[in-house]
Amino acid sequence: MSGWTDRVTDRTQERRAELAGNLAAVEERIAAACAAAGRARDEVTLIVVTKTYPASDVRILSELGVREVAENRDQDAAPKAEACADLPLTWHFVGQLQTNKVRSVVRYADLVHSVDRLRLVDALSSAVMKSERADRELGCLLQVALDAESGAEGSRGGIAPDAVEGIAEAVAAAPGLRLDGLMTVAPLAGPYAGQPRAAFDRLAEIASCLRAAHPAANMVSAGMSADLEEAIAAGATHVRIGSAVLGVRTGLG
Ligand SMILES: *Cc1c(COP(=O)(O)O)cnc(C)c1O
Repeated sequence: MSGWTDRVTDRTQERRAELAGNLAAVEERIAAACAAAGRARDEVTLIVVTKTYPASDVRILSELGVREVAENRDQDAAPKAEACADLPLTWHFVGQLQTNKVRSVVRYADLVHSVDRLRLVDALSSAVMKSERADRELGCLLQVALDAESGAEGSRGGIAPDAVEGIAEAVAAAPGLRLDGLMTVAPLAGPYAGQPRAAFDRLAEIASCLRAAHPAANMVSAGMSADLEEAIAAGATHVRIGSAVLGVRTGLG
């Protein structure tokens, strides 16, 4: 009679043990990287990227103490966030964002890490002001493309470093938006290909210029499963970790 439920429970227990083990290993890496860089552990926040994995995993992660999760595609994120609306989670949106998805994203996202054009700034601002969350600002990070030439867009989204100042001003002036900092993904092409530490050092320089004009914009979101140590050494305040916690993704994502 209870065989089916027992098997489901066994599988949940197994997955919980796996996620707990992976989280502990990532936590150890973060702690070691902070120690090596002479930084306090609480200077770095772990964001777990749950893309392609089900809401049931998000629930287990929440029970294991995770408070920050990230998604990169609205189609997957919107139903997942709704299924997890009872959990005490902060939702980060880290994927390339089309303006026709903005209205959906502002319903669940607390922060968007991938702000990379003025049209998107306008769309986010008006969506927040028209939504039920008009009293709750949306945190915005500008995504910097370190493989982009001046004025161009990066191959994985993002803006060239010399466009940061202008878009930062636009976010700072936009109703409903809060300028929180910068994000990058280590580039696969260009002068920083294969050199995550140099890329993250460059991001830190740009972040320091940004803080000179906008002191509260102090988030530096950099580092993924493969390069979190380099990011923490370079001063990242937030690391975005997917596969090292949830497992290697198959297919899209
Ligand atoms: C998928 C993703 C991550 C996490 O990558 P992993 O290599 O799985 O840790 C981080 N940032 C962004 C923008 C992503 O899309």
